[in-house]
Amino acid sequence: MELSRTELRWLTSAVDICDEATHKQWRVGAILVRSGNVLATGVNRYRNDPSQVEYGHVSYHAEEVALRRVSDPEGATIYVARLTRSGKIGAARPCPRCQALLLEHGVHTAVWTEPQGWGKQRLSRLIHEELAITHTRHASAVHPLFG
Ligand SMILES: [Zn+2]
Repeated sequence: MELSRTELRWLTSAVDICDEATHKQWRVGAILVRSGNVLATGVNRYRNDPSQVEYGHVSYHAEEVALRRVSDPEGATIYVARLTRSGKIGAARPCPRCQALLLEHGVHTAVWTEPQGWGKQRLSRLIHEELAITHTRHASAVHPLFG
């Protein structure tokens, strides 16, 4: 599977906005795009003190933040990127909770970074671990941060 030039450009934009995230351990950026227009962007951020709540309630995920900023994201595609602590591109497949939220809002296509490339999937159902990820030798040509 290859991404189109346009899809790669949006994914690169998602990588670039990861820098806006203030989360110390990982930075995730998400962009909702429809018909060539950015509907919203989001980065992950803390919502609770990590020492006070369960892991799952510590942060707002970037996808959630982007979704909250749009009244009608129906038909949009979400691009999600993650930067690791060391500043390399990491795996950013939406978690099951975000996938469910995206589906609920009519966002049926997700494109995300992987350490050696990217993944893309139509969200007709929840994606689990068995999903095949595309790895490409040319990923570093897309963005210098790809390992
Ligand atoms: Zn999530």
